[in-house]
Amino acid sequence: MEKEKITLLPYSFSTIILVFLFFITGCKDEYVTINVGENAQTEIIYNNHRVLLDIWNPKVISKKKFEKEYVIASHLHEDHYEKNFYEKCTSDKLLMTPGTFKDEYFSIDTIGSSHTSYYKDGITPSNCITLIQVHDIKIGHFGDFGQEFLTNEQIATFGKIDIAILPVLYTFNDAKNLNDVIVKLKPSIIIPTHYDLENLEILLNGRSALFTGKTRFKFSKKDINPLEQKVIIYGELSSGYRKILQR
Ligand SMILES: [Zn+2]
Repeated sequence: MEKEKITLLPYSFSTIILVFLFFITGCKDEYVTINVGENAQTEIIYNNHRVLLDIWNPKVISKKKFEKEYVIASHLHEDHYEKNFYEKCTSDKLLMTPGTFKDEYFSIDTIGSSHTSYYKDGITPSNCITLIQVHDIKIGHFGDFGQEFLTNEQIATFGKIDIAILPVLYTFNDAKNLNDVIVKLKPSIIIPTHYDLENLEILLNGRSALFTGKTRFKFSKKDINPLEQKVIIYGELSSGYRKILQR
């Protein structure tokens, strides 16, 4: 009896390609998760890798074990730094020190800045600012950035950013004195930290705002509109601020 011809090969080959493509694309998270806490505490998660910034209240970060983890403290004030947590933590760490980390998902650059109004490139920093590039999104975390103006190195490192996690209290003195980060780095999404009503009003002037009790957000590049600046007021106090500001 003549053997039946086997024509499975082309199908098998295309199946292998489909499975391979699914493996390549299907395994990657579609979104970057940003979990923001009080002060400037921030957890950024993508594909089982995580960056922790300014952790002062470790109770509210994810308890899950991550494949890769970076821990960064902008400076050593206790509302940005919990000594026990940092000392026990065995992840890659930067404590108020410039440095760089890179893996297949994250590119992280931490450079010097100042907690006070003036800073010159190269001098010992009193605060560090961090650029995190992940899934085509550029996130700037500014700790307690107090400078009136960004330095050339800071501008060259950051360029235009998509999301700024930014203290506004120190550098928002009046309507004319907008925070230099907002003016020069042009973030599309601003997540303010350390603010009061007065500088929040200045920040919101002409910008769209999202008031939400949520503290956990998911972003992909398509959520970033380079032509707008949107402010996210998050957490327990957001509804109180909305009531006052929208009166
Ligand atoms: Zn501080």
